[in-house]
Amino acid sequence: MAEILDGRKLARDIQHRLKDEVVQYKNQIGRIPRMVNIMIGDDHGTCAYARSQQKAADSIGISYDLKLLPEGISQEDLIQLVQDLNNDESVNGILIHRPVPEHIDYPAVANFVNINKDLEGINIINIGKMMLGETHLMPCTPAAVMEHIFSTQIDLKGKEVVIVGSSAIVGKPLCLLLLKQMATVSVCHIETSRAGLLPDYTKRADILIVAVGKARLIKGDWIKEGAIVVDVGINQVDNKIVGDVDFEEAQNRASYITPVPGGVGPVTVVMLMRNGLEAFKKQNNLVN
Ligand code: NAP
Repeated sequence: MAEILDGRKLARDIQHRLKDEVVQYKNQIGRIPRMVNIMIGDDHGTCAYARSQQKAADSIGISYDLKLLPEGISQEDLIQLVQDLNNDESVNGILIHRPVPEHIDYPAVANFVNINKDLEGINIINIGKMMLGETHLMPCTPAAVMEHIFSTQIDLKGKEVVIVGSSAIVGKPLCLLLLKQMATVSVCHIETSRAGLLPDYTKRADILIVAVGKARLIKGDWIKEGAIVVDVGINQVDNKIVGDVDFEEAQNRASYITPVPGGVGPVTVVMLMRNGLEAFKKQNNLVN
C-alpha cells in the first residue's frame, strides 16, 4: 500500500520555515515581504483561491493585498496598474490571477511584470531563464510537485519520469525542472492518448506526474509497481473533488501517492509565499 504524500503537512512544515525567516528579516531590517494579487471579476472559485493565499500569508507574516478589478477593465488600465506596482518599492511581488476575461491578452500583460517581482514565473524572460536552468522564481505548481518528490528523498538522477499533460503552466516547466535534476523525462499529451500509447509510457515511469484535468484518466494497472505518483489534476465529480489518477487502484501499486484534495494544491499556495519571500530577499540584498 502506497504511503500518502500529505500535502497539508508538507505545506505546514515549509510554512513554519518561511515564518522563521520572515521573523529573522523583520528583526534584521524592520520590513516584511509584501505581495499583491490582481484579480479580475468576481468568480467564486478564484475568490476561494485568494482566501487560501490570504490565510497562508497571514500565518507566515507576509503582507498580502488583493486588488479586485472589474470584469470590464481595459488591457491598457491593467498594464498601467502592473507598472505602478512595479514602481512601488513597498511591493515585492505581483501575481495576476487566471482566468482573465477574454479581451485581456494574458501573456502580453504578464511580460510587463517586473522579472524580480514575478511571483508565478510568467514573464517571458523568467520562462527563458528557466530554460537555461537559472530559475529564481519557480512557477508555483511545478515547484510544489518538486517538493513532493524531494520529500520522498528519491535520487532523481537517471530516473524515468513521465509527465502527462504538457501545458505551459504545469507540464512544460516541470519537464525543465526535472531535467535539471538529471532525470530522464517523457512528456505525454492528447496525441499520446490518441495514438493509444499513454499506458505504454505511464507503465515505465519510476515517477509519474499527471496534470490533465480528466477525472481518473490513469488506471491502476497503468502504474509501475513501486512508482511515485503525483496527481496535479482537480476535477469535480458528483460534488466530490478527484484527481486525474484512479486513487483507490493506484495506491495498491505505487510506493508514494499524492491525494486529491490535500496533495499538490496546499503546497502550491506555500510555493507562492516562498516566491514572495525570495523576491523580498533579492530586492533587499538578503540573498547569499
Ligand atoms: P491544461 O492547460 O488544460 O493542459 C492539460 C494538458 O493535458 C494538455 O497538455 C492536454 O493536451 C493534455 N491532455 C488533455 N487530455 C489528455 C488525454 N486524454 N491524455 C493525455 N493528455 C491529455 O491544464 P493545466 O492548467 O495544466 O491543468 C491540468 C490540471 O491540473 C487541471 O485539472 C487543473 O485544475 C490542475 N491544476 C492544479 C493545480 C494545483 O495547484 N493543484 C494547479 C494548476 C492546475 P493538449 O493541450 O494537446 O490538448
